[in-house]
Amino acid sequence: MNAQQMNRQILLASRPQGEPTTDNFKLVEKPIAEPGKGEMLLRTLYLSLDPYMRGRMNEQKSYAASVDLGQVMVGATVCRVVKSNIAEYKQGDLVVAYTGWQDYVISDGKEVRKLEAAMQPASALGLMGMPSFTAYVGLLNIGKPKAGETVVVAAASGAVGSVVGQIAKIKGCRVVGIAGGDQKCSYVKSELGFDECIDHKRPDLEERLKAACPKGVDVYFENVGGSVFSAVLPLLNNFARVPVCGLIAHYNDTGLARGVDRLPLLMRNILTKRLTFEGFIVSDHNAQFGDFVKDMTEWLSKGLIKYKEDVTDGLENAPRELIGLLKGENFGKKIIRVSGDSR
Ligand code: NDP
Repeated sequence: MNAQQMNRQILLASRPQGEPTTDNFKLVEKPIAEPGKGEMLLRTLYLSLDPYMRGRMNEQKSYAASVDLGQVMVGATVCRVVKSNIAEYKQGDLVVAYTGWQDYVISDGKEVRKLEAAMQPASALGLMGMPSFTAYVGLLNIGKPKAGETVVVAAASGAVGSVVGQIAKIKGCRVVGIAGGDQKCSYVKSELGFDECIDHKRPDLEERLKAACPKGVDVYFENVGGSVFSAVLPLLNNFARVPVCGLIAHYNDTGLARGVDRLPLLMRNILTKRLTFEGFIVSDHNAQFGDFVKDMTEWLSKGLIKYKEDVTDGLENAPRELIGLLKGENFGKKIIRVSGDSR
């Protein structure tokens, strides 16, 4: 390591009101610290960008604590061990960690796991990591898809949605995706093998979705909320299941929208159609991670799952890319390549 090298960190500088801007972040440089006893120095290779990061920028806690002002933005990473004073880790090891938006970090080895040698490093953040695992537990535990049923998933070309739809196909379902724009929709149909994909940016979403789901909807994997949810609700069949995974259309909301109160409509649907809505957070299901890895490895070996990564170079671009992710500018699992892998 070059003695003059510094550690770049991206801090939360201020809290967004609505959509974040690059002014909400601040890039600082600090000297790279030396690992002490029982510590190791990690160098970030890849940083995962995920929609939940928007919630961490708010003052109020949701299911996890907020990032404090002036603190490094949080995030999952793949890192190379640069120096280690921990017996289990040696220089050169690749690890998956939760070390945030920075080039280097001192770690005590907690919340760190070694990466399997055969795995493509970035895939630990997507295909073989948290987003696909989210799809797996949400769809199978809550959606409980049965062969012949119709499964609808929004953000269908994305990190979670693309895997939801492909697992539902493996389970023998009719699968309809919803995505933004022609390019994403055509990828979802022709590359991922969904039966249909509907562009939510075009008018008459409900009518087009209805035509794509002639037998109604048995499982709606909710990634989005907003107008997409409004279009799906009337199509839900009796006893439909709705794993509530994410509500990205609302992450930049500053309060409840004024207008027609749709709560009675929702509650009437839940009652009369005996619907099951169940929210979940992937980390509640960590005990199933081994099952996920086993099943996903088998599906991949049979060529049943495809996955798209959207990689941008440079830690300095993380703020802009997170802002874009929240607006659908990503195409596939969003990853920042923080540094080249020169050991
Ligand atoms: P994606 O890779 O799917 O990227 C986000 C996508 O959301 C965008 O590309 C865009 O796709 C879509 N989107 C954004 N705004 C809107 C909108 N207003 N209406 C419709 N679609 C919109 O992200 P992930 O796969 O990582 O995450 C998907 C969802 O899953 C998020 O809500 C996330 O918070 C949630 N999640 C929940 C977890 C849990 O434990 N519960 C764990 C991981 C993720 P398009 O251009 O197609 O509209």
